[in-house]
Amino acid sequence: MRRAVITAPKTIELQETNIPEIRPDEVLVKVKAVGLCTFEQRYYKGVQRAYPFIGGHEICGVVEKVGTNVAQKLDVGDQVVVASLTRCGECYYCRRGLDHLCSNADQKTKSGEMWGPGGLSEFMVAKGYEVYKVSNELNPAEATVAEPLACVIRSVEKGNIHLGDTVVVIGAGIMGLLHVKLAKLKGAKVIVSEPDGARRQNALETGADVVVDPINENLKEVVKSLTEGRGAHVVFFTAGGTPAIEQGISLLIKGGTIVLYGSIHPVQPISINPNDVHYDEIIVTGVVRHTKESFRKSALLLSQGLVQVQDLISECIPFEDINHAFERAISKDTYRVAVMF
Ligand SMILES: [Zn+2]
Ligand SMILES: [Zn+2]
Repeated sequence: MRRAVITAPKTIELQETNIPEIRPDEVLVKVKAVGLCTFEQRYYKGVQRAYPFIGGHEICGVVEKVGTNVAQKLDVGDQVVVASLTRCGECYYCRRGLDHLCSNADQKTKSGEMWGPGGLSEFMVAKGYEVYKVSNELNPAEATVAEPLACVIRSVEKGNIHLGDTVVVIGAGIMGLLHVKLAKLKGAKVIVSEPDGARRQNALETGADVVVDPINENLKEVVKSLTEGRGAHVVFFTAGGTPAIEQGISLLIKGGTIVLYGSIHPVQPISINPNDVHYDEIIVTGVVRHTKESFRKSALLLSQGLVQVQDLISECIPFEDINHAFERAISKDTYRVAVMF
């Protein structure tokens, strides 16, 4: 089999190696599609450097072999998605049931040893608990969205949206658009704040009720005018800098919640008025990664067509053209690029 290993910035080797053997608690997955997320893009661009690195954590494939101790019912040929980011299961947080906060998540192996989630490979080994069945009818490129969707599910659940609530989504990249889709499923009126005109248009086509250009329009006035002066029940920060977070906090209704889904690089502090927290009981919180339960829900939402994601797959590029796929993935004009096997 072949696997794509990043050995230096902008350098990918297609290496030949043996198809791995599985242990009794493992599944051999024949990979069909992998989404190229910012995690992989950072190692490709050299923003982060720990090589050799084998990327690919947004994975769809079919079951090739099932270990004798795998508990769930899996048949050869079943289409599956794989949750391949490390959770140790042994640290304080894993044992507390907070495995998304695992102390050893994304841990690198010793320097010089190959590491990474490993989806950019014709075959991969996964633990039984990392494998989730999806409908065989689901398009494999769309199925790779199961991983980011599983993260956004946690974000939207933390926002605790009620029917008819007003929601603001800051940023209309792929994560922003997934928030729009789920907030609409939850029965919210959705306002999207995004400086890029083409992305605002995509947000409208995805289901946003109102789009705002935060550079040339007054977002706070728009939100107030749509909520009888009160503000938004939930704000999701998916992209932008600290001023966007501070503005997001200023949009909240009393008792409202802002969820920091996106991270800030390089990090900058924000200022919060403690009396807004006290008198208005606003909640400032965040989410990172997915859980077993949010991954289960994600696989189900995609399998049943309750969330449609074909608009988020900008291009499908064959595995042999992996360099081109990364170049397209890091381009500003794509949402997700899927590598097809
Ligand atoms: Zn991802
Ligand atoms: Zn852990």
